[in-house]
Amino acid sequence: MNKKCCELLKKVINKNYKNIRLDNMSYNDDEFYYEFKSDESVSENDLSKLEDAIMKLDNSIYVKLIRVSGVYFEGNANNEMITRIVGKGFKSKEELDKYNEFLEDAKERDHRKIGQDLDLFCFSDYVGAGLPLYTPRGTIVKDELQKEIERVCRKYGFQKVSCPSLADISLFETSGHAQKFNEELFRVESPKGHKFVLKPVQCPHHTQIFASKLRSYKDLPIRYMESDKQYRAELQGAVGGLSRVYAITVEDGHSFCTRDQVKQEVINMCNLIKDFYSRMGLWKDQWISLSVRDYEHPEKYIGNKEDWDICEQMLQEVSDELGLNAKRCEGEAALYGPKLDFMFKDALGRDIQIPTVQLDFAMPKRFNLFYIDENGEKQTPVMVHRAVLGSYERFLVLLLEQFKGVLPIWLSPVQVNIVPVNMKYHDEYCRKIKQILFDKDIRVEYDDSKEQMSKKIRQSNIMKNPITLIIGDNERDNNLISYRKYGSEDTYSISIDEFIEFIQDEIKKR
Ligand SMILES: [Zn+2]
Repeated sequence: MNKKCCELLKKVINKNYKNIRLDNMSYNDDEFYYEFKSDESVSENDLSKLEDAIMKLDNSIYVKLIRVSGVYFEGNANNEMITRIVGKGFKSKEELDKYNEFLEDAKERDHRKIGQDLDLFCFSDYVGAGLPLYTPRGTIVKDELQKEIERVCRKYGFQKVSCPSLADISLFETSGHAQKFNEELFRVESPKGHKFVLKPVQCPHHTQIFASKLRSYKDLPIRYMESDKQYRAELQGAVGGLSRVYAITVEDGHSFCTRDQVKQEVINMCNLIKDFYSRMGLWKDQWISLSVRDYEHPEKYIGNKEDWDICEQMLQEVSDELGLNAKRCEGEAALYGPKLDFMFKDALGRDIQIPTVQLDFAMPKRFNLFYIDENGEKQTPVMVHRAVLGSYERFLVLLLEQFKGVLPIWLSPVQVNIVPVNMKYHDEYCRKIKQILFDKDIRVEYDDSKEQMSKKIRQSNIMKNPITLIIGDNERDNNLISYRKYGSEDTYSISIDEFIEFIQDEIKKR
């Protein structure tokens, strides 16, 4: 079906647009696309016209053209930009209608729309594409996420460290990242002759904190964590929304341990990941990849074959023991070792890889890391890399799209929004409540704009505030608070003290 649709799209384009060249068709069971260069441009608004034209040519098929975008010819950034139209074919009108419904729902869930509606992040042409700016509201969400992930990680023995964004190029030459990420490195030079690199990963920095002291086997495992920016020069056409950005904030962590401790460390990290995602209400549609070497191209990796064999075997055992049911994916391993990748779904049902646990026997050797064992001998530790929350940007995509922007109260930029029935009579009491809640560290806002009460309540719902207070004569005269939860029309009246107890309990919930 997709093959047929693609051929018909090509026919229609060649008939209706001038001077078609550099064209190419591609299709699989899921989608098709046709790409080309033309003297005229094609916009989103032209798609439904094109769909009609295709269906007119063959009335036994139904087609949806999903999007039009600019791509580089043959995917090479040195080539010309051409147009790509992506679509999907169906056998019946019912199937097509169902798919349109799904797309509508996905549009509602799109994190770019939610991010704008809820005023969480923005982009600026001055700052540059692919460099997200978090607004005050978005920064609250990000900070709360950081506090939560660090709280959970501390339970599993991680300590927080803090490193600069720059490092001497030699750090990444030693680690192997300079070669591996060559094309994606941001290099920074100064007139004084400094040659720095903006860090594409944080692991090499962490090895140097380990190396700063003499370590004994009794000290291990040593576990570091850090949430900081990493910089990668992604292909420019690929940047957009929060899914692909140049500056990502990554929640990264490393454990340095003995060979005997590795398996237990991996189990510890898998449990940590499950714990965190369950608390977030996200542990449901995930699947796990056991990402191993590309056996035909061993030259793409660092480290020796024996270590790789041991590592891959060990991850398989962990998967079996924890019932993770990991799928073996050849060629998906990291530069230095195999890994377990945890995949979730975005609004369109596509996989997003977020948490990961990676084994690494190579990097500690490259940096000559050692600890002193029971016999007073020097030994090389093993490094286990892990990301739980992963990139905050990607995690926000998952979170916003899964919850359609309705964040749990502990994460919400505003927790309580106060709406007076009439500003003239209730302003003073509202201010008093605001101050009391503020003093209790509750994120509270008071809508003292000139709008009508009904409009303020509507606005509070649009901003998805979890709790809206409605304050009138009865509340003021009796020292009460009336509140509504998001998505409910029911109003409850209680005393201020009771409300504080209620809201503090709600905030603690995970
Ligand atoms: Zn790492």
